[in-house]
Amino acid sequence: MTPAAQAAPEGAAKKQDFFAPPGARPSLLGLTRVGLAEALRAIGTPEREIRMRSAQLWHWIYFRGAENFDAMLNVSKAMRRSLSDHYSLDRPQVVEEQVSSDGTRKWLIRMNPVDALDKGAEVECVYIPESDRGALCVSSQVGCTLNCSFCHTGTQKLVRNLSTAEIVAQLVVARERLGDFPGLTPPDDGLIPSGEGVRAVSNIVFMGMGEPLYNFDNVRDALEIFSDGDGLSLSKRRITVSTAGVVPQIGRLGAECGAALAISLHAVRDDLRDRLVPLNKKYPIAELMQACRDYPGASNARRITFEYVMLKGINDSPAEARELVRLLKGIPAKINLIPFNPWPGAPYECSDWEKIEKFSDIVFNAGYASPVRTPRGRDILAACGQLKSETEKLRARARLAASTE
Ligand code: SAH
Repeated sequence: MTPAAQAAPEGAAKKQDFFAPPGARPSLLGLTRVGLAEALRAIGTPEREIRMRSAQLWHWIYFRGAENFDAMLNVSKAMRRSLSDHYSLDRPQVVEEQVSSDGTRKWLIRMNPVDALDKGAEVECVYIPESDRGALCVSSQVGCTLNCSFCHTGTQKLVRNLSTAEIVAQLVVARERLGDFPGLTPPDDGLIPSGEGVRAVSNIVFMGMGEPLYNFDNVRDALEIFSDGDGLSLSKRRITVSTAGVVPQIGRLGAECGAALAISLHAVRDDLRDRLVPLNKKYPIAELMQACRDYPGASNARRITFEYVMLKGINDSPAEARELVRLLKGIPAKINLIPFNPWPGAPYECSDWEKIEKFSDIVFNAGYASPVRTPRGRDILAACGQLKSETEKLRARARLAASTE
């Protein structure tokens, strides 16, 4: 981890929640219940009203997706005025939206500045619809310190932890865009799951930018907000945290959050994994597997997902498939084979389809479900880190054009 990521501890996150540029009012969007109560206290709300008022705000912000205080009709006029004098419900800005022909949507989201020097960090968030469910892939950090050699996010320089509010805001923004709050209408393209009791976003995966277990506290608090039954109401079982293998935090994730676990494995030998996922040098495969064996709450009904990106000629041989099966012995596991999503200048190619099928057959015959994740949103470069880089390149080009004019 770089000093930048280490230097974004809890205290800073709390400060971020309340930072607003001069003239702007801090947004209450993304605060925890405790945070909302503090915000109410700070504007002189009597102690005996705090519980009731927090519950009202919670309902409006997270259940209804309210964008301003005027909508909160069961809150007294004086209270609404006081709230809007001091606070806002501003969302981070969607600076770019791309919609794939398969319905995958990708948003580049600019966060509100966290201090006077900050121009507003940008992160990506991807929505992947299926017929009866939809997954939102959220980011936990701006950039990433892990430098996995096949991942585009590692090539981006700026790194900081996202605050709880910034993580939560991604779901709120997505639900808004997808018309998935009461009173909103979904986009009429037939690509968003609908029906009685079906929500456009039914699952969350922490598979966007960043390493969620390097931002443990904020991710944990965001999970609490996502899964609160009076608000955003996502079942914890439908929230998956994906890690490159930060071994010391894996047990805590199970014990404190109850989220589903995914491990980005990608190699079965330490020498290769050291190259693909350099974090492996710190926490080698044997230690990682032990942490998985010990994961609280793992069972056949709640399996750990092992992600394995298929890289041509690198990690895709039948011998490696057999080794993978051996490695996972005794762990309630499912295996996700991910065709490598290429990016401009990437040092790898995606394995040939026959190779992937062969690999998948070996894993399947050993008794594991081994779905090959169909590439989604290829026409919009939906793999990790790509939209951000493309947009930065375009901006750089625009600047260059302007300076040579
Ligand atoms: N840091 C976390 C979560 C972010 S990456 C982790 O490592 O798990 C989410 C998943 O996407 C990981 O499995 C990662 O290895 C994979 N991934 C990253 N770049 C990819 C690419 N170009 N093609 C396919 N999968 C990729």
